[in-house]
Amino acid sequence: MKTENAKDIRIEPQSLQQPLAELFGFHSFRPHQEDIVRAVLAGGDAFAVMPTGGGKSLCYQLPAYIMDGVCVVVSPLISLMKDQVDAACANGLRAATLNSTTTPSERTEISAALRGGELDLLYVSPERFNSEGFCDWIKRLHISFFAIDEAHCISEWGHDFRPDYLALSRIVDEFPGIPVAAFTATATPRVSEEIVLRLGLRKPHLVRASFNRPNLFYRVAPKDNLDRQLVDFLRGHEDESGIIYRTTRKNVEATAEMLCGKGINALAYHAGLPDETRAEVQDAFRRDECQVIVATIAFGMGIDKSNVRFVVHGDLPKNIEGYYQETGRAGRDGEAAECALFFGRQDIVQLSRFASCVEDENAREVAMQQLQRMINFSQHDGCRRVALLGYFGEEFPVENCGSCDFCMGEVEREDATVPAQKALSAVVRTGGRFGAGHITDILTGANTERIRQQGHDQLPTYGVGTDKDKSYWRRVMDSLLAQGLTRIQDPQYPTHSITEEGWKVLRGEREVEMLKQAPVSKKGRRGKASADGPYSIGLFTKLRELRTDLARAGHVPPYVIFSDRTLHDMARHFPDTPDKLLEMNGVGKRKLAVYGTRFLAAIKEYISSNPHESCV
Ligand code: ADP
Ligand code: MG
Ligand code: ZN
Repeated sequence: MKTENAKDIRIEPQSLQQPLAELFGFHSFRPHQEDIVRAVLAGGDAFAVMPTGGGKSLCYQLPAYIMDGVCVVVSPLISLMKDQVDAACANGLRAATLNSTTTPSERTEISAALRGGELDLLYVSPERFNSEGFCDWIKRLHISFFAIDEAHCISEWGHDFRPDYLALSRIVDEFPGIPVAAFTATATPRVSEEIVLRLGLRKPHLVRASFNRPNLFYRVAPKDNLDRQLVDFLRGHEDESGIIYRTTRKNVEATAEMLCGKGINALAYHAGLPDETRAEVQDAFRRDECQVIVATIAFGMGIDKSNVRFVVHGDLPKNIEGYYQETGRAGRDGEAAECALFFGRQDIVQLSRFASCVEDENAREVAMQQLQRMINFSQHDGCRRVALLGYFGEEFPVENCGSCDFCMGEVEREDATVPAQKALSAVVRTGGRFGAGHITDILTGANTERIRQQGHDQLPTYGVGTDKDKSYWRRVMDSLLAQGLTRIQDPQYPTHSITEEGWKVLRGEREVEMLKQAPVSKKGRRGKASADGPYSIGLFTKLRELRTDLARAGHVPPYVIFSDRTLHDMARHFPDTPDKLLEMNGVGKRKLAVYGTRFLAAIKEYISSNPHESCV
C-alpha cells in the first residue's frame, strides 16, 4: 500500500483536462471516457461496454481521484489486482487491495488508512465483498462510489459467470445513496440488459463503444507449413512480446520447443502445467523476460500487459468471440500490433469433432453454428475488420480499413474451378467415403497400397492432378470444405462428401476461387498507431532497457512504469527538459517526479553518443 502522495492537484470537476494530464499524462480522452467520468462525478450510475484496451480503468480512477471518499472497486482476478494497484500508485493515486492474500498486518494498515480518508481506491475481490461483515464494515467509511470491473461475471448468459458476483446486486439496497459504475469488455445486448438488471442500476448512463480496434492489423492465411510460417512471422517481430495460441497442449509444447530450437525465447503455457509453473511463465511474460508465450486459450485472462505486440492463432479458434478476445490482448497501449490467424482443413475436422462431442443437444448445435461462423470468417472474401465487427452487429462505414491483409491488397486469389471439379469428381467417384489425404493421393496418381486395394488407380480421375503437388491439392480440399462445397458428415471419420453447392461446381454452374498462399511479409505488419510517426529504434531500445532495470528494482512489471507508447513518444521527440518530458503521452506529474531524471539522463546520453540522430 502506498499513501504517501498527498493530493496536491485537486481541481474543479469542470476541468478534466488538467487532472487527465497531471495524473495520467494523457492529453486527450479516448472515446466515451469523458462522458462516463462526468456521469460518475454527477452522482449517477453508469454502465459501459468498451473493448479491451479501451481505457476502462481511467473511467473510474479519475473520478475516484477527484471525489471525496474512497472508491470501492470490485475486480475478479486476484492476480491482476496487484498490478492494478501498482499501476494506479505509479500515477500518484492512493490505492490498496483486500483479497485472500492480504495479511492481517496489511489489513490493519489498510483499515487505518481508510479511516483516515487516505485512500482513493480500494480493490476488493468479489469473495471478499461477499464475506461476512464486510458490507457492515465498509458502511462506516466514506465511499465515493462503487466500480465493478468485468461486470459480465454477474451474467449467467455470459461466458464467465461467477456466483460471488451475484452478491453485488445487494449494493444498491445496502448503499442507497452511492453511485455504481459497471464496466465490461464483453457483453452482447442481451448480457448487457441482464447486468443492468442484476446490479439494479438506477437509470444508468449507458455506453456501448465501438468494438473496432484501429491499431490492430488483421491477417488470415491458410496453414501450409506452420513452423516455417511462425518463424517467418517472428522474424518480423524481433524483441517484441507476443502470444501464439494453439488448440492442444501437445501442440503448445511442440511449438514452444520448436521455437526455442530456433533461438527464440519462448515458453509454453497450458492448464496441464502445475500452478507454480504457470505463475512463473506468466510473470516472466509480464516482466518482458520471455518474448513469446505459446499457449492454449487458458492463457490471457489474468494479463493486463499493455505492450503485447502480436497475437498469432496457429489453429482455427472455435468461435469468433474467442478469436476477438484473444486478439484483443494485443496493443492495449494503442500502439500498432498485429494479429495473424493460420488455419487448415485439419483444424476444421478437429473442431467439428470436439463440437460433435458436446452432450447437450442445444449446446452442440450452438457450438456447431459458432464454428461455422468462424470458418466463414476465415474464408471471408473482404475486409477482416468489416467481417469481425459485423459479427458483433456493428457496421464499419469506411471503404478501406487500411490495416488488414485484404484492404492492403495482400490477399491474392486464384481461379480454382477446374481443380475443384477434378477433386469433387474424385470425391463423388469414391462414394464420399474417403479423407482428404486419400483423395489427394488419387489426384496426384500416388501408388499406395490403399489405392491399389480399392482399385482407385482405375478411376478416370486417377492422376489427373500430377501437374500440381500434394500441398496444392490439400489446399484445394481445404477450400472446398471451408466453402461448403464438401462436408464432413461424421467428424469421427473425416470423410469428405459433396454438397448441393458442390454439385453446382461439377455441373459447371458456378466458379470456385481459392486463396493463394500469401507469404507473410518479412517486415511484420502493423495496424495504424494512434500516434503515428517513426521513432528512433536505437533510443527506444535504450529506454526499454532502462525500464526493465527500474521495473526489476521496483518489483513491478515494466509496463507499469511506462507503456511502449510513452517510450515511442520519447524516442520520437527526444525531450531534454522535465517540461518536455511531461508532454509525452503517459508522463504525469508523479512519474516525472519518480523517473524523470533517469529517463532524461538516458536520452541525453544517447544523443551525445549518437550526435547524427535527433528528432525523427
Ligand atoms: P481496459 O481495462 O479497457 O482493457 P485499460 O484501462 O487497461 O483498458 O487501458 C489500456 C491502456 O490504455 C493502458 O495502457 C492505459 O494507460 C491506456 N489509456 C487509457 N486511457 C488513455 C488515454 N485517454 N490516452 C492514452 N492512453 C490511454
Ligand atoms: Mg480493464
Ligand atoms: Zn480491412
